[in-house]
Amino acid sequence: MSGVYFHIPFCKQACHYCNFHFSTSLKHKAELMEALKKELSLRTNELPATPLNSIYFGGGTPSLLSPEEIGNLISSVRDHFTVNEQAEITLEMNPDDYYEGYFEQIKAVGVNRLSVGIQSFIPEELSAMNRAHNAEQAFSVLERVQQHFANFSLDLIYGVPGSTMDSWEKNINTALSFQPSHISSYALTVEPKTVLAKQVKEQQVQLLAEEMTVQQFDYLVETLTEEGYDHYELSSFAFPGFRSVNNTSYWQGKPYLGIGPSAHSYYQNQRSWNLSNNKLYINKLNAGELPLEREQLTKIDRYNEFVMTGLRTAEGVALHDIQQQFGDKFAQLFEEQVEKHLMVQHLYWDGDVVKVTKKAKFLVDGIASDLFLLNL
Ligand code: SF4
Repeated sequence: MSGVYFHIPFCKQACHYCNFHFSTSLKHKAELMEALKKELSLRTNELPATPLNSIYFGGGTPSLLSPEEIGNLISSVRDHFTVNEQAEITLEMNPDDYYEGYFEQIKAVGVNRLSVGIQSFIPEELSAMNRAHNAEQAFSVLERVQQHFANFSLDLIYGVPGSTMDSWEKNINTALSFQPSHISSYALTVEPKTVLAKQVKEQQVQLLAEEMTVQQFDYLVETLTEEGYDHYELSSFAFPGFRSVNNTSYWQGKPYLGIGPSAHSYYQNQRSWNLSNNKLYINKLNAGELPLEREQLTKIDRYNEFVMTGLRTAEGVALHDIQQQFGDKFAQLFEEQVEKHLMVQHLYWDGDVVKVTKKAKFLVDGIASDLFLLNL
């Protein structure tokens, strides 16, 4: 199992909370398209020879590309790799990019899954986050998505300043009325160098109390689980058979090739990350150089990642997997370190697998970091 990820580094406007890499100028779009194809052609040896199971367009805002441009990128992947017939081909889109005929066109070039950046259906929340779309666009695009895609995801953000349990319930119930096969939901976080960070610092925005954010998370998990969604990763919910192939391969440590400014890749215990600057990225590729840095992961790095992703996913961390992949010493340390989290009922044994209890799900990242090894 392996996949190709494209980072499309353009957005119409900057959402106040976002620290992803993107530019609001489309000036270099044509050059960037060429650079993406060039990067792909230079890195064909960075995936195994097995067929690809997923192609993912993320960003940024991939729906700022035309269907033809998306089709060109899919064709270049097919020129260099064998793509499984059943491969998941996902496009992230924002509701304001929709136009009549759009879905027919992207399906014709091979896209078979959509991930729609809704975030909220509440007008005040959308404008407070500086999203480019409004609530009407969110409703109308989802009605149309439903008609064209059996497999689609939508994103929702909880913990939004000014939100209440009522507004959050309304958001979830509205989302459910469209029966998406997948929902991703993230807590709003204050990232450095964002408008939100400045607003908070200058006291123009007051963050939601943590208890309210936790309450919203709990409501999310409870409601979606009752509705038949499988809570398969901290932020991800899917109807049976609709887990994201792309994200699941990251969590399972499968190889992936990230193309585009700021994209990350992973293959043969090596991680690489591309420059987060569109112009420099293009210049490097024009000069025939790869725009990236690499690091070889140590056994301890890999163990720490294994524990983090295992605890975040429904699978948990199996002791026999630690023994098999890292050896007895790691397994013994793991057993010792989980002890204190078992006592406070944040973790529990399910056979020989350690999982996070319901009440500790929201705290999982902190628990996992506490189990990290620095050295042996
Ligand atoms: S559209 Fe997405 S990537 Fe672009 S600024 Fe908003 S959250 Fe960030």
